[in-house]
Amino acid sequence: MRKVLPFFILLLLSGCATKTVVPENGGAEHIEVGDDSFGGEVQDSQNGIIVDKGAKFSSTPAGVLYPSKSGKGRANDNTIYIPSMRFPIEKAPAYINSQVYGVGGINGEKGKSCDKKNYQYPWHDNFCETRTWGMPMCPSGKGHQGVDVRPMSCEKAKYWAVATENGIISYIGSYTVSLRGDSGRIYRYMHLDSPSVIVKEGAKVKRGERIGLVSDNMGGTKTSIHLHFDVQQTVNLGNGVSKKVFVQIYTSMVDAYKRLLNGRP
Ligand SMILES: [Zn+2]
Repeated sequence: MRKVLPFFILLLLSGCATKTVVPENGGAEHIEVGDDSFGGEVQDSQNGIIVDKGAKFSSTPAGVLYPSKSGKGRANDNTIYIPSMRFPIEKAPAYINSQVYGVGGINGEKGKSCDKKNYQYPWHDNFCETRTWGMPMCPSGKGHQGVDVRPMSCEKAKYWAVATENGIISYIGSYTVSLRGDSGRIYRYMHLDSPSVIVKEGAKVKRGERIGLVSDNMGGTKTSIHLHFDVQQTVNLGNGVSKKVFVQIYTSMVDAYKRLLNGRP
């Protein structure tokens, strides 16, 4: 018995030690990416996740959803509906891909949403991804109203969502901010960290001005760390019918992102 007791105490101690080392979030939520400069790989020692900040940007075509079971997009629609839009996240890199069908998503590959596969190029369009929302622009008449964008690393409340054009903050909800641009377009920013939202309803904002921090806030529902971004504008739907709808946003995002990467956002 005397020999067993110290061993038992040692086991208890080592159990406690483990508890104090592992962060509350299981250690998977943080990827240290160092400073804000471009270039070079930065490895997070805890997770072994590598964020390649110098990777060359690439994107798959508009309307080609990935994986293909995630829905049907607007194939061959290369129209840039918002030609001069500022990219809605302040800094690159950022990653457009599915939150539902990506690694760690409800219908995706098993794993954590912080998996490095979710933080690499190429971008994949997810406008019109399977949803129940009525969407005149989607082939099935229903779908995802915008695109989902992951900021440069899997850390919440760290990266700013910014105004895409000059306008007025038209709505602030529990995790949504809407901006009515001078062009008449309505831009929606979702899953922002509520306490970080620094604009007030009715306030005028300038293009590029900070709005709030990208997070995983969806009220009581669980989601990954990303910005859901969509745009409503009046478009001609054919047969003389013009309507304010959620427009295909992916090509405008690619266009805006390239300008951000070139240093003229
Ligand atoms: Zn979304």
